[in-house]
Amino acid sequence: MEVKAIKIASQETLFSETTKLAQEDLAPSNLAPMLKQYVEMKKSYPEHLLLFQVGDFYEVFFEDAITVADSLQIRLTSRDKNKENPIPMCGVPIHAIDNYLPRLLEVGHSAVVVSQVEDAKHAKGMVRREITRIVTPGVRLEGDGLNEKEFNYLVSALSSGEQFALSYSDISIGVLRVAEYETSEELLDAIKRIKPAELILPSLFNAIAVDKNAEWLKDSIALAKDLGARLVFRPFDYPETSRIAQELEVWLADKKAIAQVQSSLREISAVGLSCLCSTLSYVDEVSFGVKPVFSTIEREEASSTVVIDSATRRNLELTEARIDGDRRNSLLAHIDYSKTAMGSRLLRQWLLNPSAEIEQINTRLDAVESLISNSLVLSDLRSDLIQVRDLDRLCSRVATHRANPRDMKMLLDSIQVLPNIKNYLSQFTSSSLFRDLLELLDLLEDIGEKLSNSLVEEPPLKINEGGIFKAGFHSELDRLNQLRVDGRSWLAQLEQQEREKTGISSIKVKFNNVFGYFFEVPNGQKNKVPNYFERRQTLANAERFITAELKVRETEILSSKARQIDLEREEFLSLRAFIASHVARIQKTARVLSQLDVLSCFAWLAQKHNYSRPEITNDLETLIVAGRHPVVEQVIGAHNFIPNDVNLNSKDRRLAILTGPNMGGKSTYLRQLGLIQLLAQAGSFVPAQSAKLGVVDRIFTRIGAADDMSRGDSTFMVEMREAATIVRKATKKSLVLIDEVGRGTATSDGLALATAISEWLLEKTACRTVFATHFHELTRDVKAGAFCLAVGILEKTNEIVFTHRIEQEVCDRSFGIEVARLAGLPEELLVRAKNILDQGSAPVENFAGNPTENSALKAAPVEKNSKEDSSSDVLLQLLVEKINTINPNNITPIEALLELGRLKSYLKVNA
Ligand code: ATP
Repeated sequence: MEVKAIKIASQETLFSETTKLAQEDLAPSNLAPMLKQYVEMKKSYPEHLLLFQVGDFYEVFFEDAITVADSLQIRLTSRDKNKENPIPMCGVPIHAIDNYLPRLLEVGHSAVVVSQVEDAKHAKGMVRREITRIVTPGVRLEGDGLNEKEFNYLVSALSSGEQFALSYSDISIGVLRVAEYETSEELLDAIKRIKPAELILPSLFNAIAVDKNAEWLKDSIALAKDLGARLVFRPFDYPETSRIAQELEVWLADKKAIAQVQSSLREISAVGLSCLCSTLSYVDEVSFGVKPVFSTIEREEASSTVVIDSATRRNLELTEARIDGDRRNSLLAHIDYSKTAMGSRLLRQWLLNPSAEIEQINTRLDAVESLISNSLVLSDLRSDLIQVRDLDRLCSRVATHRANPRDMKMLLDSIQVLPNIKNYLSQFTSSSLFRDLLELLDLLEDIGEKLSNSLVEEPPLKINEGGIFKAGFHSELDRLNQLRVDGRSWLAQLEQQEREKTGISSIKVKFNNVFGYFFEVPNGQKNKVPNYFERRQTLANAERFITAELKVRETEILSSKARQIDLEREEFLSLRAFIASHVARIQKTARVLSQLDVLSCFAWLAQKHNYSRPEITNDLETLIVAGRHPVVEQVIGAHNFIPNDVNLNSKDRRLAILTGPNMGGKSTYLRQLGLIQLLAQAGSFVPAQSAKLGVVDRIFTRIGAADDMSRGDSTFMVEMREAATIVRKATKKSLVLIDEVGRGTATSDGLALATAISEWLLEKTACRTVFATHFHELTRDVKAGAFCLAVGILEKTNEIVFTHRIEQEVCDRSFGIEVARLAGLPEELLVRAKNILDQGSAPVENFAGNPTENSALKAAPVEKNSKEDSSSDVLLQLLVEKINTINPNNITPIEALLELGRLKSYLKVNA
């Protein structure tokens, strides 16, 4: 098989050919011993890519090589080229493995790294190799290239038929949670929210998966593909609660927390526990003996947070833009003023799961307010927070034996600002949240002292090159170090001594890894070299020599260096083990710092963009004065943004029917209402002059439409699916924001559906709703509890101006043609459209249906005349329109002349 052919053949062909080699009894006798070793290992890990150290490279063979070469865009070569079946192969340098692994994980692969564990020179027969780590997209630590501002979740999901559950963990920060759901939609929605990097589902022959063809399973598989999550299939079972409790102890950083975890386990259903165990056993399987630890194990309480389904999340552009998925255009990107990676992640979590508990919201708002009231402390606090490193991820690295000396320095840097943080916190005793945080804050003084007494100012990244510890920390290390220092000055003396003795004025003692220490003599003075100099190397301009005396000293210096490195390594491991035994304390402090960071981010945001504190109530009302869209106002500039009010309640103002021109600002108004409510419930001040907001249990939005190709759904189907969710799930306490429903089908059907849906929300659900629509029919005969709003417009001659002001009135036109003009449709086409509109009988059906017999398309005069007549008619009309736009009272004689010239050249071009 030619490698060239491999490159152009389809993926399937490649797999079938090379899999034969890799999966049948993969140790044909003619394989080289090293490849036999590779194949043996591959057999134990068929689902992972196998990266196999051969000297200075990690090599990959067979079909894995094709996958790796393709994913990393590196050269695919082959082994045994001259034989009948050359073996596909590629490789990456061992020093660059940490750059390549994340790229493999990013595209959904997992990898087993097999390293040489003995020096090839000393190996008898085959070099001994062992698995040094397994990395999968969902079980990654910081060194594996994680995005510091985002979570990286491993999810296990299961259904018993009646119940649905999932457990999700981010081992890089020690998070493990379980959540239960009543329907498969809720489960799927949670998966979308969590966005797993890896999803574990029950395998086909699973004893407890009731229905192998279950829809939820198929949908989860499709969803994982959509989200780019790696799919893993494993058997799930129902474990005994007592067994789990025992097992969990091993995974907990804080062993004292086990009693609390055990009691929360009792509230988790069997399906939930099964997911939990599946997650843990997978982490165990791939973490290869080095278990990460979790700070706690939590059960997600649906009632304590606002439910925001995936459509709403997307529509409100919370974490990424709706159209292109760009994060820079999201709410998160515009309000994230946090100073630490931990704060950024917590902010994301608060935005995606705003609180539904009034006390919690108010304690956060109190804390934000007290920070704003002391802006000097706020800015000091924020500059100190810059020094705080990602302690959560650091803890995971410590627990998994991966923390390096530089990580320890980062820990020390963070610990050193804790006294300041404590000082700031103690100035805000009026806030109960700050009082709690103050109590929780552990200054980690013992750890800080140990680190500052031992580490040098700039420790190295590696643990096996020495240079980690400062003088005075360890007497033996000091002694060894002194030996080296003495050795170096002795060498300087020797150089001087030999210079005098031999008369070679430019003789030098030098060092390299091959020859160790040597004398270098330039060619010009070669003739003075004495007999006791032993030649080692001849260069173009010089010669290198050793002497017995030099070699004796070299051995002393080098062995002291080696002893020092060993000792430093040993000391470092014990320092790391000491830190590992205090991980739970560090995690606790990390929790304080991340909350403080988000609260100070909210305070900063409020100050910078002039937000105000919302009044949170348990009433079913929403009163916003001069509200703004937090992102649009930043994008177009606060002075260009027109603020708007909202007044909804559960009595006479339940449903607002919002009409207005295209591009008038309806969607912006809807989104800003959703975002203000969401920000408030996350604990932030809001972009408004004032706001009185009744807590909502869910926020629903249906804004615009998009196809869901992955599920094979049309635009209209997506629209109806979203509407169905709202109608079924919204409660009296929900906030519903609908922008256009029923537009993806025939006008008559759409209007009927829009009417029925708005009536349902008004009367049956009775929640607070804003319903934006182009069906102006909805504004006629408005029912009790509903009222109309419209986007203001100023009409000028042949021109409209959007005021973006939402007013208490009805707008009976959509001004679609005017917007189409702004969008650049040809003038001639627009005139034709206007003609049709003016006939008052535009085609009855919209794009989804066919025009009816009496449609304007048929009746319009243009159709009746000859082609030439019609084009001169159009030209005349265009000319009239252009002339009509000129106001002679407003222009100077020069402008009038210029205008005349423009009209003439227009006629010349178009006549
Ligand atoms: P369509 O019906 O075509 O979907 P729309 O009425 O929903 O349009 P939006 O998309 O909300 O209109 O707004 C169009 C543009 O108008 C926005 O991109 C924004 O730049 C601007 N805009 C909207 N609201 C305001 C406002 N309150 N102040 C200033 N500019 C605004």
